[in-house]
Amino acid sequence: MSPTAGDAMHAFVEELYPICRSITGGGVRETLARVGAHLPLTVHEVPSGTPAYDWTVPREWNIRDAAIIDRAGGRVVDFTALNLHVVSYSTPVHGRMRLDDLRQHLHTLPGQPDLVPYRTSYYAERWGFCLSQRQLDALADDEYEVLIDSSLEDGSLTYGECVLPGTGDREFLLSCHICHPSLANDNLSGIAVLTWLGRRLADRELRHTYRLLFIPGTIGSLTWLSRNEDVVPRIGWGLTVAGVGDAGDLTYKRSRRSDAEIDRAVQLVLRDRATGFSVEDFSPYGYDERQFCSPGFDLPVGCLMRSPHNSYPQYHTSADSPAFVSAAALADTLDALEAIVDAVEGNHRYVNLSPKGEPQLGRRGLYPSMGGPTAQAEQLAMLWMLNLSDGGHSVLDIADRSGVPCDRLRTAATRLEAAGLLRASAAGVGDRAGDARRPRSR
Ligand code: ZN
Repeated sequence: MSPTAGDAMHAFVEELYPICRSITGGGVRETLARVGAHLPLTVHEVPSGTPAYDWTVPREWNIRDAAIIDRAGGRVVDFTALNLHVVSYSTPVHGRMRLDDLRQHLHTLPGQPDLVPYRTSYYAERWGFCLSQRQLDALADDEYEVLIDSSLEDGSLTYGECVLPGTGDREFLLSCHICHPSLANDNLSGIAVLTWLGRRLADRELRHTYRLLFIPGTIGSLTWLSRNEDVVPRIGWGLTVAGVGDAGDLTYKRSRRSDAEIDRAVQLVLRDRATGFSVEDFSPYGYDERQFCSPGFDLPVGCLMRSPHNSYPQYHTSADSPAFVSAAALADTLDALEAIVDAVEGNHRYVNLSPKGEPQLGRRGLYPSMGGPTAQAEQLAMLWMLNLSDGGHSVLDIADRSGVPCDRLRTAATRLEAAGLLRASAAGVGDRAGDARRPRSR
């Protein structure tokens, strides 16, 4: 746990919360500018009308003000108080309407009468307001002024990309969606955790290249894929990161391949941690792993969440506020992600250079002079590394088979390598985008 990073991420969530984001527009640019204050971020603008496979970059939406105003001039529904009050991508409107006529444009959650729902209408031209059932019930049967000062015009789709180069030629893709307005867990938690992961990785020597994408959901990943088909073959690992600030356990949703190196790395890291977790199989629903794992790409991209989307009552409502996410949960997710990066970075295959019989560890200063459970565990890690390092087993293979934590095996490997007993095999480990599915080596 790193409480300092957790507090900083939570403050970042609070900073980004009031901004009205959507799949395009000024709110996305403002958000990316704030991410860019922490990371070397390249911001891309893709014009409206640009095709992205079966989709098209939509017109850009911007909004300045919206309200339902009563005869006395009171803003009974006020966008400036909470941006969820306007259906995202609402077309402009200004006029007077009776409540009965207005009702077809109003969205509530009768089962959660105090909460304001989050609604969008990206691909059908409509306008509407979201309010709590209690707000609606309190409206007098009267005439109201209805104002949505928005624009839907040719412009561009905006996304951010941060590339942290490694020494090798393969890439780890991490993406989060940036298209939701004031929703803290679903959206801002992923942005905050990826931003802080990028800050940490920027200070490290890296074997692989890390490509962090801050993109609007669906159309953003499709747009990125359509512009980066040359990058796709280099992607060896990937995760979408979403809903990672709530109090639930970590949840991992496997890639479509289900047994890619990323799937094994994440599951072993979660196994090694002292906290609960759950693992779900791939399904073609959820976040942008849907696009990365579409059959034309079949990338090894899983999804890291805490409580799965749509599994908690705050999901897509005004209750998904900064109070719903905690510094501790954000820090816990960040630590897990960094452990996943460590597992992938350190997943070498080693060759035992003294394979006939066990080498003498004591003579090389590797045998603990003091007993005790820690020394015993360290010794066991070295014995497993020596025994299975025949060039055919990776560190993750050994972690899986032995039950020894990945990080303990990596420490053992480093010590054995320094003592001249192991050598990292030149052949890399991992899946390439175009690899046929391979049987797991055991
Ligand atoms: Zn969502």
